[in-house]
Amino acid sequence: MSTIDKYNAYVARQRRKYNHQRGKHSHLRDSQQTKCYSAEWKYLEMYPELKECMSKEDAEKFFKRITKSKMWKDNGWPTNLLWLKDMGDKRRLNGYAQDGLVRTVSLSPSGCSKYTIIHELTHCMGYWNHDRLFRIWLVKMVSRFFGREEAKFLKQCFKDNGLKMSKPREPLAYGQWLEKYNRLVNEN
Ligand SMILES: [Zn+2]
Repeated sequence: MSTIDKYNAYVARQRRKYNHQRGKHSHLRDSQQTKCYSAEWKYLEMYPELKECMSKEDAEKFFKRITKSKMWKDNGWPTNLLWLKDMGDKRRLNGYAQDGLVRTVSLSPSGCSKYTIIHELTHCMGYWNHDRLFRIWLVKMVSRFFGREEAKFLKQCFKDNGLKMSKPREPLAYGQWLEKYNRLVNEN
């Protein structure tokens, strides 16, 4: 393996640390999912209006408001909304996100809230698990579309649940990495 390949592998490894990709690394469990969900439950008790089920029409309007925004154009990905069959109280989930050339958010008509839409759309930004980068972008989305107070409190709920929220460290630049690498090679 050439040095540059080794460097690229290092960068990929660093990035994976904070954003595990579903499927591609299926041996890595979505270990922070449970903690993330329970923090969100606590959060939504404070903002019950965000978890209220909307009409299909309102949901589509809200979905469009986000996907037509500048924030989405700069950071998101072409994403469509699909409706699941209405299972009422028997539904297993409120929504889910899927990768593809055009990504999709599938929503259950009886469990479709503003918060569900924000959560699933954040997955469609490319953060498929509930890792740190997902949470950081989720807070950014909440700040942009619900408000700063709402975002601050969500961040606090994650932290209270022991989930890290600080910006991940960038991987070393090639020069710095090479220096460190050579040092290690010479030591051994
Ligand atoms: Zn999720």
